[in-house]
Amino acid sequence: MGMELKWTRRSFMGSLGALTAAMSNPRKLFSSAPPHRAGQPAGQITGFGSTGNVYDELGVTTVINGQGTMTYLGGSLMRPEVEAVMALGAQHFVKIADLEVAVGKRIAEMLKLPSGYTAMVTAGAAAAMESGLAGILTGDNPKFIQQIPDLTGMKSEVIIQKTHRNPFDHQLRNTGIKLVVIETRDELQKAINPNTAMMHFSNFANADGQIKVDEWVKVAKEHKIPTFIDAAADTPPVSHLWDYANLGYDLIAFSGGKAMRGPQCAGLLLGREDLVGYALLNNCPYEDTIGRSQKVGKEEIVGMLKALELYLAEDHDAQNKEWQQRLELISAKISTLPGVTTSYFVPDMANHVPHMEIKWDQQKIKISPKEANEELRKGKPSIVLAAGERRGSLSMSSFMLKPGEESIIAEQLYTVLKAHSA
Ligand SMILES: *Cc1c(COP(=O)(O)O)cnc(C)c1O
Repeated sequence: MGMELKWTRRSFMGSLGALTAAMSNPRKLFSSAPPHRAGQPAGQITGFGSTGNVYDELGVTTVINGQGTMTYLGGSLMRPEVEAVMALGAQHFVKIADLEVAVGKRIAEMLKLPSGYTAMVTAGAAAAMESGLAGILTGDNPKFIQQIPDLTGMKSEVIIQKTHRNPFDHQLRNTGIKLVVIETRDELQKAINPNTAMMHFSNFANADGQIKVDEWVKVAKEHKIPTFIDAAADTPPVSHLWDYANLGYDLIAFSGGKAMRGPQCAGLLLGREDLVGYALLNNCPYEDTIGRSQKVGKEEIVGMLKALELYLAEDHDAQNKEWQQRLELISAKISTLPGVTTSYFVPDMANHVPHMEIKWDQQKIKISPKEANEELRKGKPSIVLAAGERRGSLSMSSFMLKPGEESIIAEQLYTVLKAHSA
């Protein structure tokens, strides 16, 4: 079965040294040209894939994504360099645990995380939550690792604010813990007890909870309770990648396949070396673990590192301008129709990029936003925007568009609205 549960801080660092030595020429690895570009026929492929569009071949409709980094649409598109590095990663066998340790150290250096912090690549932010909490519960105790989610002998409570509950806390509940839900500072103090394993923070809910991101970690430290922050969709800004470690959070989760445009089945677990090590012990490739189902491949692991490198090197201001200009192009076209108005907004937290809200006078243009969205979806090419049901509007972002797709959206949205104009 090959379980290696002898993890210690020293072996963590030791296997790192061995691996660094084995990586003979990393620079060559990272400067290789992409094998092919998405959307173009891929060289020698015959049979499936020979047209260059596998989805067309399967009869599955591809969409122009004006909604954002939605997992149900496939998240984001990787850069060609990420695909190229994944292809390089696919050419060799390697011990996954050694690779995780080496990549984690590299990531911690790239992000200039505080000393004593490292990282691992997980199968996504959700996987990081489950493995991270499992590690806190089990430590490096082999019996506990095999036993979980039966928490006999372990701590079993995780404190969370009521407004921070969301579908992703299912990943926490998978470990067998009980969520202790609180609202006020007083309730928090009363909830803390010797059975408290962790205090969880959902970063997108920061504004909604009574206890904010900095106070949450401060209280936890006073009681020596590990903290976790789910910051899955909270880049940009890029600084969030190190802000929460600097605030003192013990474990931090990010999605790899959202704005960072890493592999779709990848995420980052950043945190204290001991806790990240325990998370790894609860994760694939180790068997009889809760995280065995959260496999992350060698290809995703190196692809995630490359995506992060590219993301850090980006000109984020220039990108924001480009995204804004795409929205303005669409606005200029549809605003020529009587009754149509547009406005711009940037969500404070999560998907912190330019968005546009599109409204129209439904006396003049007799179609609801939901129906307009449906027509766009059925169009060719198919377009997906967000129908803001309650606000009676459509909204969209442009950061997941491929070059030129803003013009297609402008034309098709204009055509749909015009067709229903009085
Ligand atoms: C997307 C998301 C997740 C899950 O991330 P994956 O990388 O898809 O596993 C978790 N929490 C929040 C708040 C998210 O937005």
